Formats: sequence, C-alpha cells, structure tokens
Amino acid sequence: MKKIGVLTSGGDAPGMNPAVRAVVKKAIYEGLEVYGIYRGYEGLMEGAVKKLELKDVGDIIHRGGTILQSARSDKFKTEEGQLQGIDVLIQHGIEGVVVIGGDGSYRGAQKLHQKGIATIGLPGTIDNDINGTDYTIGFSTAVNTVTEAVDRIRDTATSHEYTFVIEVMGRDAGDIAAWAGLATGAESIFIPERGSSKEEMLERLTKGFQRGKKHSIVIVAEGVGTGNEFADYIRENSHYQPRVTVLGYVQRGGTPVPFDRILGTRLGTHAVELLMKGESGKALGMQKNEISVHDFDYVFSDDSKDSNIVTKLADISTELSL
Ligand code: ADP
Repeated sequence: MKKIGVLTSGGDAPGMNPAVRAVVKKAIYEGLEVYGIYRGYEGLMEGAVKKLELKDVGDIIHRGGTILQSARSDKFKTEEGQLQGIDVLIQHGIEGVVVIGGDGSYRGAQKLHQKGIATIGLPGTIDNDINGTDYTIGFSTAVNTVTEAVDRIRDTATSHEYTFVIEVMGRDAGDIAAWAGLATGAESIFIPERGSSKEEMLERLTKGFQRGKKHSIVIVAEGVGTGNEFADYIRENSHYQPRVTVLGYVQRGGTPVPFDRILGTRLGTHAVELLMKGESGKALGMQKNEISVHDFDYVFSDDSKDSNIVTKLADISTELSL
C-alpha cells in the first residue's frame, strides 16, 4: 500500500483532529502518501481530495471540530454514489481509507470495503453509541463540557432555590446523561436504556427540599424526550417552577480533553498499521484499555451490545439521591 486517504463523516466530535493528525503523521513516518478527503463522503464523490503534508496537521491536536470538515450525504447511500466515490479513489491511486465517524459512517465504510477499497473505521462521535468500544472519540470531552455547564447552572439553582431540567445530547444513547449526571450529583437522570419514574423524580425533589436542599438538577437524555416535556410534567404535578436548559451544540465543540486526544492518536496510528498489513472492513475501539479490532458486521450486530454500564451509573445515581 502506497497511498491512503482519511475522511471525517457524520456529526463532528472533539478528538477528530488528533485522530486525523495521527493518521497523517504515522502514514508519512511509514513512507506512505496520505490524502485528506474533505466533507466526508460528499467530498469524496465530488473529488475534494488533497495530498496532506506534515504542515497541514500542525497546530490542530488541541482544536475541536475537524479540519477535514464533515457532511452527511444521502447520495452515498446509493450504489451510484459509492461507485462515484470509488472512481475518485482510483483516479488518485488511493488503496485504503480511514473513516472517522459514527455508526452511519461505518455503514458507508462497509460499502467501500465490500467493493474492494481497504477501509478501517474509527469511532468519532460524542454519543458513545458505537458497539465494540467502551469509548468513542469525543465522548469524554462532551461529558466534561456538560459537567462544567451543569456546575455553573447549579450556582444559580442554589442561589434561587430553583429546580433545573437540563436536556443533553446522545441521540438514542444515554451515556452523556448518565456520566454527566453522576459527575454533577443530579437528583434524577432520565436515559433511554432504563425506565425511570417521573413520580419518583417528584418525590426525590420534594424530599430534597424538605431536608433543606437548595437546588435540584434533573438531567434528561434527548433520547427519552425534551427538557420542556419533563418541566411541564413537574409544573403540572407540583408547585415547583422548573427552569429548562437545552445545552445543544456546545456539547459538540471545544478543545478535546487529553483522553480524547490520546484515544484518537492511538486509534489513528493503529489504523495505518492495519492498512499496511492488508486489513480491511475493521472497526477500531478501546475495550478494557486495549485496542479492539472488530469486523463492521460484528459492530452492527446485536451480539456486540455491551451489558450497559450506563444503567449501572443511573442506578448508583438513584441510590445516592436519598
Ligand atoms: P454518523 O456517522 O455520525 O452516525 P450519519 O448516520 O449521518 O452520521 O452517517 C454519515 C454518512 O454516512 C451519511 O450521510 C451517509 O453518507 C453515510 N451512510 C450512512 N448510512 C449508510 C449506508 N447504509 N450506506 C452507505 N452510506 C451510508
């Protein structure tokens, strides 16, 4: 293998840049040519491909977002779109591609692999919703961002004895809510993986205020509903007047924390090693502190679903919300 490409796809995540940097530097270290494919599969089909040098990845290890930019493309879901992308790769002599993105991006990568392009996937998403890895690149930063935001909101909650409902991202996964909820000592955490009772939430709020608590925080994962729905429920069933904060896109941006930089860097370098060994169709991750390598099909299958740590975290949170 002489030439490889790298692209970022789907929702951006902090730590994508360190991963891109690692792929580029490792490839050059190994004597390969490396090409940046801009704007994900959309850019691939349009031929937005540029040879990258060391200088192109200088000063990016600490930057959020992705210098390669990202996109979503319906056309790439079609055979025609995939063949158009493969034509571009062939024109440039690119034999292997590192795809950094979420589950949808992996499905695109799987199509490239099945059509003869060597492809390795790295889990880049804040949602931590990819099977076969304990952590995705960007998740730790998002938890950090949410924790900081909730700590700030708590100051106001305490000053005014307010109840706050805070809606966080995660698509269908409750990881951000569970981790940040535990880290901030939230009274109630609502996640899609575990049923929680709204009545119990009200009981906990009341008990807390009765014993002199000055604030109350409820964290809602977007996968179970909106913060406003939960606030309406509280308003309709108690005398509390909750405030709602939807954290939104602040969770996707920002300087990647060291964990995400290191995860991106380790997985990025390993991806290049695998391509050089002739591997393809593999999704990389971290399990029990070791790099994990799984077939894409395994990642898409139910067999790969972990016994969910997020439900354990939510259980602990409930036990401690006396
Ligand atoms: P994420 O990678 O963050 O999950 P998406 O689900 O939007 O984000 O997927 C990113 C892109 O991956 C899509 O816009 C599309 O171009 C490509 N993709 C998703 N599913 C498929 C599929 N089944 N076949 C081919 N490409 C796909």
